[in-house]
Order: sequence, then C-alpha cells, then structure tokens
Amino acid sequence: MAKAVGIDLGTTNSVISIMEGGESVVLVNSEGNRTTPSVVGFKDDQRLVGQVAKRQAVLNPKGTIFEAKRFIGRTWEEVQHEAERAPYEVVKGDDGGVRFVVEGEKYTPEAISAMVMRKMVNDASEQLGQKITKAVITVPAYFNNAQREATQNAGKIAGLEVLRIVNEPTAAALAYGLDKKGSETVLVFDLGGGTFDVSILEVGDGVFEVRSTSGDTHLGGSDFDYAVVNWLADEFKAEYNVDLRKDKQALQRLIEASEKAKVELSGLPETTISLPFIAMDPASNAPLYLEKKLTRSKFEDLIAKLLARVRGPVEQALKDAKLGKDQIDEILLVGGSTRVPAVKRLVKELLGKEPNQTVNPDEVVALGAAIQAGVLTGEVDDIVLLDVTPLSLGVETKGGVFTKLIERNTTVPVRKTETFTTADHNQTGVEVHVLQGERSMALDNKSLGRFKLEGLPPMPAGAPQIEITYDIDANGVLNVSAKEKSTGKAASITIQNTTTLADEEVDSMVKDAERHAEEDRVRRESAEARNQLDSLRLQAAKAIADAEQATDEQKQPLQQAIDEASSALDANAPKAELEAKTQSLAQALQAFMQATTASQATEAEQPRPDPTEAADDDVIDADFKPSDS
Ligand code: AMP
Repeated sequence: MAKAVGIDLGTTNSVISIMEGGESVVLVNSEGNRTTPSVVGFKDDQRLVGQVAKRQAVLNPKGTIFEAKRFIGRTWEEVQHEAERAPYEVVKGDDGGVRFVVEGEKYTPEAISAMVMRKMVNDASEQLGQKITKAVITVPAYFNNAQREATQNAGKIAGLEVLRIVNEPTAAALAYGLDKKGSETVLVFDLGGGTFDVSILEVGDGVFEVRSTSGDTHLGGSDFDYAVVNWLADEFKAEYNVDLRKDKQALQRLIEASEKAKVELSGLPETTISLPFIAMDPASNAPLYLEKKLTRSKFEDLIAKLLARVRGPVEQALKDAKLGKDQIDEILLVGGSTRVPAVKRLVKELLGKEPNQTVNPDEVVALGAAIQAGVLTGEVDDIVLLDVTPLSLGVETKGGVFTKLIERNTTVPVRKTETFTTADHNQTGVEVHVLQGERSMALDNKSLGRFKLEGLPPMPAGAPQIEITYDIDANGVLNVSAKEKSTGKAASITIQNTTTLADEEVDSMVKDAERHAEEDRVRRESAEARNQLDSLRLQAAKAIADAEQATDEQKQPLQQAIDEASSALDANAPKAELEAKTQSLAQALQAFMQATTASQATEAEQPRPDPTEAADDDVIDADFKPSDS
C-alpha cells in the first residue's frame, strides 16, 4: 500500500508527518520549515500559501485569509461574531455556510484549508520523491460531525484520500506511546497560536476515550505577541509621540519582532528588540529607531492576565470528567505556546504534577496522526486504535432482520437518520430495538437497549414515517431517537460506551459473522421474502375492504390468493414458495384493481396506482411490534 501522511491542520500552523523506518517524522516544507502557517494570501493574481502569505498579511489584510479553521463546517449564524472580527470579508453562503470574499471571488473554508494542505503535501511529495495521495487529518475533540465532514472534504479538495479524521488529543497520546502502557487518565493541555483546548482522555488497551473537553477559542500565542506589541508601541509613543500601530508596515515589523522575542525568551532570560528606521520623527523628520530590552520576568508580567485565563477551562474539564487533579496520571503538553516557561509552571501549579515534555509540542499531533496513518496502511501493526465504532450499529426490523444504520469502523462522532414505517394497520406504537454486531439477524447480535414510541394515531400499515436517528458523540455515547413525522411524537434512549469494546470481543463478533455469512444470507433473504408477502397480503386485504362496489365474483380470486399466502406464512414455507405466492398474489391484486377500476371508470376517470409498486424507496418495513396498549 502507498504511504500515507498525518496532517495536523492547525488554526495558526499546520504540520505534516510520515512513518519512516518505523518512526514517525516531521517533513519540512519547501522553505525548510517544520511548520507551515495556515494562511493563504491573494495578491495580483498570485496565490501565496504559508510563510509568504503570513508575511504580507498586515499589508494585505483584505486579501489574506488566516484561521479558516474557526469557520470550517460552521453555519453563518454560529460564527457571525467571528466573521465580524475578521480583517477580511466573510459573508453567508447560499448553503447557509461561510464564504471568504477576496477581490470578488468567493472561497469556502474547505477550499482555503485545502490550499494549505495541498502545499504541504506537494512539498512532502517532492521531498520524498513519491506522490502522496492518502492522509489522516486531525481535528479538535469537540468538533461536531459537520466540522469533521468539512475537514474531510477539505482533504478531498486537496486531492487526498482521507483515511480517517482523528481527535487531536488522541493523536498526541499516540505520539507519546501511551497506548502501549496500561490504563491511564491523561490530560492534554493544548495551547497553540490562537486557541486553547484541554481534553481528558482514558487511554488503555488501544482504546482512547475522550472523557471531557474544554477550552478558550480566543486564547493563544498571538495574544502573547500582541501583549508585547502593545507594550513596545506604548513605550515608543511615550518617548516620541508616534503611534506605531497606525502605520501598517511598522505594525507588521512590530508583530514579527515581538513573536521572535517571545520565542527567544523561552530559552533566554532576556532579549533585545531592535527595529531600525521604524518611523520618522514628525518634528525633525529624522528616522527613529526602536531598541528595547525585554526580560523574561517583564514578559511574564505582560502576559499574566492572559495566562490566568487557562485556569477556568482546566477546572471545568476536571469537573466534567468527574475527576480530581490527583487522578490525572499523565499531562501532555501540545502547541507551540506551551514552550513558554510560565505556561509550564502554571500547568504544574494547577495540576500538582510535572507535565510530560519528551515530544516536541508543536509536532506531537502530526506525529500521532502519522502513526495512525501507519496503522491504517498496515505499516504499524502493534496498535489497535478504536477511536471508531468497533461494530456496526442498527435496529431490528420486520422478520427479525438486523438493519444497519452505522457501519463498523466509522469514526465517531457520527449521525445517521433513516425512515421506517409500520408493518401492521393501526399500530399505536413501535418498539425500537437497538443492536450492535455484524450478523444479518437481530437475534445473533448484541442487544444494547429497547424503547417504545407510543401514542401514534391509527394509520394504515406503511403510512407512518418514523425517522430513526443514531447519533454517537466523540465519547462513544450513542443516542437513538425515533420521531413520527406527521404527529411529531418522539422518544429516545442513551447508551454509553459504544466504542469501548474489548479487542477480543470485536474480533470474535467479526469472525463469527464471516463464519456464518452464507447461512445468514439465506435467513435474511427468507425473512425478506416473508416480509414482502406479508405486506402484500395486508395491501390486498385493504383493497378488498376499500372496494365497496366490488362484487363477490371479483373479490373471490383475490381472497383465495390471500388465504393461500396466509397458509404459506403460517406454515413457515421455504423462500421459493413464498416468492411464488407473492407473485400470484400480486397478479390477483393487479387483476382485481383493473376490474374494479374499470367498473368505476365512468364515475371518476382517474387512473389508480399500480398496487405492486413500492410506495417509497426510503421506507423500510420495520418490525415495530404493535404496542401492548
Ligand atoms: P501551534 O499552533 O501549536 O503551532 O503554536 C503556534 C504558537 O506557538 C505561535 O504563537 C508561536 O509563536 C508559539 N511558539 C512556537 N515556539 C515557541 C517558543 N519556543 N516559545 C514560545 N512560543 C512559541
């Protein structure tokens, strides 16, 4: 199988990794950097991606799109506030999503993210001398299905086959090799360029369960940069009465110099910021220089208020996971901003434990994504990652058939809806039986729970439209809901931990299904033949009841076919016989409809529908038993 890469598609920076000689390694881009800014600039028919785009951002604010990740998979209403803050133009798309507008052209967040990934993949392909076509892409654990799907689409637009979307904290835990240890509770502290995320995971035996997530979507390293920018600009203004923030070029230089100083202060106790010819003295017209010493302790002063904001989300994540800080076994630092010594100190103070710092924090997510890619391409075989539904999930339908809604190995969270109907006339309720497994018949699979949807008004069989929705969240919690469309009646059930099955259990259920595949097929087809004959029998009985004008002579052949169908069903006749009876019943029904239509044609000249035609392809007969009431 061709090699696959792991991509950490970040809000500010993105990283790409690959497995090489059994190790996950970061690939450098064409500028020789290990991270690529997630920025796209449009200038004079030119499209700039990465560092070059970032560098011209301040001078070209309307033509530079950054932080597209904040908008991906979101509706306009969800992000309107963010849109208003952006220096570039953001409008509502025809589909209710978001569009960036640059020089009259509209771009989706997916398209912008695709441009960033395309650049990284092209650079990687060149470096490896091999075209890269497959990838695993990471997303924050709290991303919903729409955001995950949009990220997957961005990968497709970039020409990639997206093998899987993986949670960022899960990828980090993989990179640290935590899956190989025993069961552990891990807190992932991720402070990047523009966002802060805390996740608490349960890791063990190849299972990564996200227990809770929290964060601050507007806190990150760029805020630290701006704290330095403001300090420098204020000092400069006090000295020369010139506000550097008002001059775009000067501001761009200030931002770059501040970020550089911040990074240096992670390793040094002090640094000097020098910006020659930063402005002109309004009085003398002489060039002005900015030269300022910044110590680490002054820097820590400048960012103290920002740092204090990490406390709340950490406490919230612990509370949501119902854990005390002493129950956290391991703390992982993710994101470039966790290199700031004051951040590390604060984490230690908040959690009472030294964080694990053995892996590069701005590369750890991509490294884990590459390991996952290796697992999926077969290169890495000692890890089973169950951040997916390990077995198919579905519902029991008529005749004891297991009807799947979510296939096994679907990445969670996931949401699927299908419409079912009733099998009997005047059913006032249905029972939804939720099952998990790979076998064709409900009986052979694992029952997860049942619930009833009751209080339906009397309706003919096949008339109610019952929407069943399976919704698994990032924690593997399955919520099944049923809703009858015409009445709005609804009921639901919540089932915990659908993604946390022991490997052996999954293996044995899958093998079992393979072993019994042929036998299951026969049983399923037989059940389907029964269902078909049974619903046609109901339809025929209704046709007789409705045709008040029909003579006994007209009714007799159809009634006989109905009786024969009933006997075959009662006797549990083999599939071939059921099919033969279905055919003769369909013919009798057709003849009956034609005869009664002909005699009524003079009264109302309206053609009648073909009784053997299925009413609606989306509607499956469900084995929703009549409720007891
Ligand atoms: P990320 O989104 O994880 O790539 O994080 C990017 C942020 O980390 C940017 O704000 C960088 O300025 C910041 N960063 C990277 N390296 C360092 C460092 N050594 N010290 C402080 N901040 C850093």
